Amino acid sequence: MNFVGAAGVDVKIVMIRCPYRGQSVSTGIEVEESTFAGLPDTLILSRCPLCGLEHVWWKTEAWLEPIRYDNDSQASTD
Ligand SMILES: [Zn+2]
Repeated sequence: MNFVGAAGVDVKIVMIRCPYRGQSVSTGIEVEESTFAGLPDTLILSRCPLCGLEHVWWKTEAWLEPIRYDNDSQASTD
């Protein structure tokens, strides 16, 4: 195991797939991996930064990714 150490908890960003664009998008929800894993499977509502609509998704549909602090929206990977 790899512990984060004094910096604190290992916080990730919750990702979902936009049903309209078919791309993975950030929900803006930041959560500890252990906390997320402990959540029951439930419906969650969040606004999509891609299409601007609100999507309802199950917790089991979401996944965690490391938080990226860079803001380059120009990096387009098809
Ligand atoms: Zn969307």
